[in-house]
Amino acid sequence: MTGGAGGLAVGAGALLSHVGRLGVGVYAVGGLGKPVEREAGDIAAPSPFEAAWEAVRAGLKRSIGARTFDGWLKPVTLVGFDPDSATVALAAPSDFMANWVETHFGEQLLGAWRAMLPHVERVAITAAADAPRPSLFLIADEEEPAPVVVETPAIAAAPSARPAGGALFEARYSFDAFVVGKANEVAYNAAKTMAEGGTLGFNPLFLHGGTGLGKTHLMHAMGQEFLARKPDALVIYMSAEKFMYEFVAAMRAKDTHSFKARLRAADVLMIDDVQFIAGKESTQEEFFHTMNEIISAGRRLVITADRSPQDLDGIESRILSRLSWGLVADVNPADFELRLNIILKKLEGMPQVSVPQEVVNFLAKRISANVRELEGALNRVVAYAMLTGRAIDMDFVTETLADLLRSTQRRITIDEIQRRVCDHYRIKQTEMSSARRAREVARPRQVAMYLAKQLTPRSLPEIGRRFGGRDHTTVIHAVKQIEKLRAQDAELDADVRLLTRQLEG
Ligand code: ADP
Ligand code: MG
Repeated sequence: MTGGAGGLAVGAGALLSHVGRLGVGVYAVGGLGKPVEREAGDIAAPSPFEAAWEAVRAGLKRSIGARTFDGWLKPVTLVGFDPDSATVALAAPSDFMANWVETHFGEQLLGAWRAMLPHVERVAITAAADAPRPSLFLIADEEEPAPVVVETPAIAAAPSARPAGGALFEARYSFDAFVVGKANEVAYNAAKTMAEGGTLGFNPLFLHGGTGLGKTHLMHAMGQEFLARKPDALVIYMSAEKFMYEFVAAMRAKDTHSFKARLRAADVLMIDDVQFIAGKESTQEEFFHTMNEIISAGRRLVITADRSPQDLDGIESRILSRLSWGLVADVNPADFELRLNIILKKLEGMPQVSVPQEVVNFLAKRISANVRELEGALNRVVAYAMLTGRAIDMDFVTETLADLLRSTQRRITIDEIQRRVCDHYRIKQTEMSSARRAREVARPRQVAMYLAKQLTPRSLPEIGRRFGGRDHTTVIHAVKQIEKLRAQDAELDADVRLLTRQLEG
């Protein structure tokens, strides 16, 4: 299967199958540390795989900003792909860089690769001694383990004396990029208040909600906003997992002092996904003390979890009660309108991409689980379109997202269909199984059988059974009859469309 632009392969499978043939170096799984050299006679023109890498790089550059990109990702090179472990191998100029990129951009790199090639399962980054060193690298201390202090990309990329340590806030996770709707306005307003640095009516702020709904985004936004107003402030963001990991490491090294001192010096401390420390007693103990000190010193504390304080099993009650002194705000799943606005907002950032309204509506309607999934679907569509040179229309989208759409398809039951149809034609649901042949019940019954065939995976005999034990030939007859009538009878056709829409919505 080849697509428009330069005969690039369209499907992920096709892309991958080109890899070996075109000679992109494939490394042995056991030899992750040593990328295999490219074979002699390697082609000069980029393979589809290299084209995908270019697109991944371009996407990341847009999403993390050119400065951060130039500092960290530009020197990273593509080594190859190992089809057995579905691993993309990348090389960075040093061990330090490789670790750094892996820790801070690993997830995004994997996400970007998967948007291009959903079969990719891992991205491995190793040091390659001969790759060029970026200038930013010169100001980083190679011996120092990655600190947790977070700095804005601008600060980290500036050739200042500040150590270029720690995770960077993602520039794209800003308040401006956050789309506000009913589902998240309380959380958004609270986050804004927290970040603006004025007197607080509440502390801590506890944000909770399901995965992929924007909690981490809001934390990054708060961090950046706070630093923009007070550039000298110490803003620390870390996952609860990292909190635990660092605390345990500090205990082992018998140096919990500096760990504590660093956290307690924060003007703003943000701990993400606190459900992670449920049941971890000594970590909770430490967390509780840190929390108390931060709050009583009048510094800001922000915490997120995937559920409300009451539902956090395995977290000590004194922590919970302390948390509920502050503001507890939930982030709810986005409704259709918010999903639509989020897509439109993301598209604003891609002026070169044209997506018809019909496709936007379709995505907002069908990809409803969470915002991350919605964003991923949109990115995948855009990436594939760029890679293949095809226009983004309904055909292209349903083809590109086939797997995702199948899994998000709502299961429509025969019972639901019968209920809807009976409501619509104002007849009793028992008529679906009755033997009556009068037109006013026989026609709706046929419509329901037709819809059952179209909208459910049930077999003809099964459908027949659910309509009063009718034979499968009766169902075939009904389906043919309605198909024929739809072409002739505008009113019936409109009925079927309406019912289909109601059932699918
Ligand atoms: P969580 O931390 O709640 O699991 P994230 O903050 O990681 O979710 O959000 C997942 C993705 O969805 C991110 O890329 C984020 O930018 C995006 N996102 C979530 N909510 C919104 C929103 N309201 N507006 C714009 N993007 C959003
Ligand atoms: Mg998160």
